[in-house]
This record gives sequence, structure tokens and C-alpha cells, in this order.
Amino acid sequence: MDTGLFVAWLDEAARLVRRDRERLTELDAAIGDADHGANLDRGFTEVAKALADRPPGSPAQVLTEAGTTLIRRVGGASGPLYGSMFRQMGRTLESPVTLFHFEAAFEAGVVALERLGKAAVGDKTMVDALVPASRALALAVRDGIGALEAFERAAAAAAEGARDTIPLQARKGRASYLGERSMGHEDPGAASTALIMEALATAARA
Ligand code: ADP
Ligand code: MG
Ligand code: MG
Repeated sequence: MDTGLFVAWLDEAARLVRRDRERLTELDAAIGDADHGANLDRGFTEVAKALADRPPGSPAQVLTEAGTTLIRRVGGASGPLYGSMFRQMGRTLESPVTLFHFEAAFEAGVVALERLGKAAVGDKTMVDALVPASRALALAVRDGIGALEAFERAAAAAAEGARDTIPLQARKGRASYLGERSMGHEDPGAASTALIMEALATAARA
């Protein structure tokens, strides 16, 4: 896994977030403040621009640059959360980047996000998509599965985790202010996590 794959991942994430910007906004309109699509579109567009303007020299640098840009450019809760995740991934990632090293870094990134947000699985947040994705990667490493198939499994697990947030009552973030009225809606952050994981599989397929 080289620097080009990581740049392609974030470029594809920017493309998918832009494509689904309205859907993410509608999900956030139902249980938040209707800005998740705009927040992430701006954030990932800035990430893609930063990576093009200042080409990073390593996969770890790609992730660190992405994280720093998201923290700096996204006003909403999702910016610092995703930003800290990518920065921690960048700090943890060891070279050469094998699936084993990637999985370890991804898991460290998810743990950093969980700590910052004080959120756990079942709280109806992006954590509900990230943890199943992380688990799918860990199982793929254990079973000696190749990176592409591992990323496809992680993407499928994230999408399933996002769908599974629909019946939950939110316990973190703005949606938690709604109490029981947050039930019956997919969490916007979990939906964007599914896109970010889909982007990884697509980048690896190319
Ligand atoms: P804001 O809520 O500030 O407008 P966004 O709309 O961009 O920010 O992001 C909202 C998403 O952030 C939620 O759908 C949820 O997935 C995630 N989120 C919010 N608070 C937390 C938290 N404490 N821990 C984990 N994720 C959170
Ligand atoms: Mg919002
Ligand atoms: Mg907001």
C-alpha cells in the first residue's frame, strides 16, 4: 500500500461526500442541524486540495495532513472527530504499509475518536459504523485475506452499522437532545463513515 493509494482514498472520499451531500444534509436535518453534508463536503474538498498542493511523501503523511485539514476546516463536531481519527492513524501507521499495519493504525484512530467523543457502540454516532469496520479489518488480518477484500468487507460492515443506527436513540451529539424522537432515523455521521469506507475499497480496486 503506497502513498498513491492513500491519496486516492481521500480523493474518492471527497467525491462520494460531494455526490451524497444532499442525503447527508437531509439525514442531519431530521435529527441535527442540517449541515453534515456541507461540513464534510467543505472538509474533504479542502483535504483533496491540500494533498494536491503539497504532495505528501508517505502514507502516514497523507493521513496526518488529512486529519489536520479536517480539524482546521470543519466547524461541526464531525471535523475534530474524523480529524483526530486520521491524525492518530497517521501517527500510528508503520511502514511498509501492510494490511496488518493498516488495521492497527485504523483501530488506534477509532479509539482516539471514541475517546474524544466519549461515545461507544449503540450511542447512534459514527462509532456505530467505525467499530464494525475496524472489526472486519481485524478478522481479515486474522484470516489472511487480501487488502482489497478486507476493505470491501469493512465497507459492507460500515454500511450495515450505519443502517443499524436507525432504531437507536441518540446518546451523543445534537441528536441526543431529541431523546426518543431521534429514533427511526439513520445517523448522518454513521452514513458518512460508510462512504469513507466505500471510498477505501474503490481506491484499492483501481
Ligand atoms: P454538528 O453536530 O456539530 O452539526 P455534524 O453535523 O458535522 O456536526 O456531525 C454530526 C455527526 O457527528 C453525528 O451524526 C454523529 O455521528 C457525530 N457525533 C456527534 N457527536 C459525537 C460524539 N460525541 N461522539 C461521536 N460522534 C459524534
Ligand atoms: Mg450537524
Ligand atoms: Mg453544526
